[in-house]
Parts: sequence; structure tokens; C-alpha cells
Amino acid sequence: MFGKLKEKLQNWSKKIKEKAEEKEKEEIKEQKKEAKTKEKKVKLTSSEQVQASSDKARRKEEKKQEAEQKKLEKKEKKAEKKQKTQEIEEIKEPEKTTKIIKVKEEATEEEKKKSIFQRFGEKINKIKISEEDFKEYEEELEMILLENNVALEVAEKIVKKLKEDIVGKELLKKEIEFEIKTSLGDIIREILIAPPDLIQEIKEKNLDGSPYVILFCGINGSGKTTTIAKIAEHLKSKKLSCVIAAGDTFRAASIEQIKTHGEKLGIKVIAHDYGADPASVGFDAIQYAKKNSLNCVLIDTAGRMHTQTNLLREMEKIVKVCKPDKKLFIGESITGNDAVEQVKSFDETVGVDGIILTKADIDEKGGTALSVGYVTKKPIFYLGTGQ
Ligand code: GDP
Repeated sequence: MFGKLKEKLQNWSKKIKEKAEEKEKEEIKEQKKEAKTKEKKVKLTSSEQVQASSDKARRKEEKKQEAEQKKLEKKEKKAEKKQKTQEIEEIKEPEKTTKIIKVKEEATEEEKKKSIFQRFGEKINKIKISEEDFKEYEEELEMILLENNVALEVAEKIVKKLKEDIVGKELLKKEIEFEIKTSLGDIIREILIAPPDLIQEIKEKNLDGSPYVILFCGINGSGKTTTIAKIAEHLKSKKLSCVIAAGDTFRAASIEQIKTHGEKLGIKVIAHDYGADPASVGFDAIQYAKKNSLNCVLIDTAGRMHTQTNLLREMEKIVKVCKPDKKLFIGESITGNDAVEQVKSFDETVGVDGIILTKADIDEKGGTALSVGYVTKKPIFYLGTGQ
């Protein structure tokens, strides 16, 4: 059901990861270049310093030499020779000092170089998705969601939440796709409302001896009759007994259809004639369940468009007479936003407690499940996955 949407979201996360990686590589390249330029500058400065200090020393020595020379002229030839040897040694001295300075400077540069590359190593493993990076792909993500039947307000919520979760966060490169997927999973789980345990509710209601009544509503062809048969079988597998009320007295062949299901499942179907009052069919089914100590009553209703006011009024009457414990809306997952509008309208008239989405097996998009629950704040109890 979520196949196509899932695949598209996966591709989208991959793209965002690749983009962030590309940007990171460029940044690192830039930083390396900068570091190299700095390094050159430092080398240049230190050799200039060496040059300057040796020039200065030389000048000083020359002056000294001159002075010494004058002195030497006055002194004996022997003393002159001795003095000259000393001069040579003193001239050599500053050179030694510059060598030491140079060695020290190089050591500091080595240290600097090391820490820069260490820092690069750390950066290479980590990625930060900037707001601009996200913006570039934000629209694409929203389009993917909208194209797959996710309602606009839900799509906006998903994008906003995902942005809050990942933008500006330092993520490990190998974990970036996983982080996006996990975040999307959490957001979707938050959007989908968990339904209560129906089986447990039925058992609790049965404690005082009364049957649990479920009313099924929805438009024609959405799969109400088929779903009722599926629920009946599900209850049977949980050792819960039930009776079906053939409340769709409007659509041709609907009574025969549900009777056939009942026969196959070995479940009693209470039916009146076509055109009969569906509220009275429901009422009779409840009496039958009470008399026979059955756990549950499943009431089918005629499919009506959410725009057909008179049929919606008839629905109000069924609710008033049968007082269902649960009113479940049956909608097709392939209808997208239409399903959202239908639930809203049924909810306004009869008050819907939950949703069953049918035809999930032929729904490639999957967005209806996200939208219908979020917009109406109703839980989805089951998905229909076959004829
Ligand atoms: P109703 O008019 O609401 O009672 O709808 P039906 O129960 O008669 O179903 C209408 C059509 O949808 C029938 O052909 C069903 O077999 C089909 N149908 C119902 N549920 C599903 C489902 O989960 N998946 C698929 N593929 N078809 C379904």
C-alpha cells in the first residue's frame, strides 16, 4: 500500500544525503586550500625573519668590525690576528640562532598541520544539513506527498517536522539516510492515531450481558458488505459470536450478497424486504443477539453519498434506534482527499468513531491513510486487503 510513497521518500532521503556530501566535499577542499595558503605565508614570514635577523646581525658586526679595525690599526700585529679570529666566531653566532628559530618554527607548523588534518578527518565523517540544502528539496518532498494522496495540511506538517528534526544537526555521514527515515517514521506514527482494541471493548461490553453493536457506513461500492463479512470472520476467529443486520434495503442485490456471505461463514443474517426501514432491521438484529446471547451485532447500511441529505437523515434514525457502540466509516484508500471529505460529512451527521480503509491492496499511493486519520482525528481500525 505504501510501496510507491515509501520508495519515493527513500529516493528523496538519498538525494538530500548526496547533496550534503557534495557540499561537505567542496567545503573541505576550500579549507585545505586555505590551510595550504596559510602554511606558505607562515614559511615566507619565517624565512623573511631569518633573513632580517641575519642582515641586522651582519650590520652590527660590520660596525663592530669597523671599530675594531680602528683599534687594531693601533695595536700590535699579533693582537690583530687574535682579534680577527674572534670576529669570525662572532659573525657565525647569529646564524646559529636563526637556525634554531627556523627549526622551532617548522615544529610549530608541523603541529598545526597535524591538527588541521585531524580536524578534516572528523569533518569527513560528519555532515550538517543546512537550511538552504533542505529548502532546495523541501518543495520536492511536498510534491511527492501531495502526488501520493497526502492532504496539503498533512504534507506541510511532515515537511515542517522533518526540517526541525534534521536541519543544523551534525549527523554521521553513514547514518544520514537512516536518520531521515527514522524521523519520517516517527512523524508518520505521530500522525496515525492508534485505535483502541476492538476485541477487548466487545468483551467488556458483554460483561453485563448486552451485545456490542457496530454500525458500518460509507458511500456505495466502498466495500461495506465485504468488510462486514471479513469482520464477522475475524470475530469468529477470536471466539466471538455475531449476527449481521442487512440494513442496506436500498441497493439491488445487497440483501442477497450479505446473505451469501452469512451462509458461507455460518453466521445468521437478519433481513427484511427491499425498501424496509433499516433502523427496524438493526433493532431486530439486536433483539436476536440478546435472545441468543451473542457477543456482537454488525449493521450494514445503504451506501449514500455524503451530499445526499435525506439519506444521511435516515442514518441519524438508525443511530437513534440502535445506539451503536462503534460507528465505523468504510472508505476506499484509493480515493485520496475524497475519503477525507466523506468522513467529515458522516462525522458531522452521525459521529464517526473510527475508519476502515478498503482496497489497500490496489492502492499504490498510501497517502489517504495518512490524511484521513490526521484531518478527522479518527483512528484507522483495519485495512481491507482483498476482494
Ligand atoms: P458496498 O456497496 O459498500 O457494500 O461494497 P461491496 O462490499 O459490495 O464492495 C464493492 C466492490 O469492492 C466489490 O467488488 C468488492 O469485492 C470490492 N472490495 C471490497 N473490499 C475490497 C478490498 O479490500 N480490496 C479489493 N481489491 N476489493 C474490495
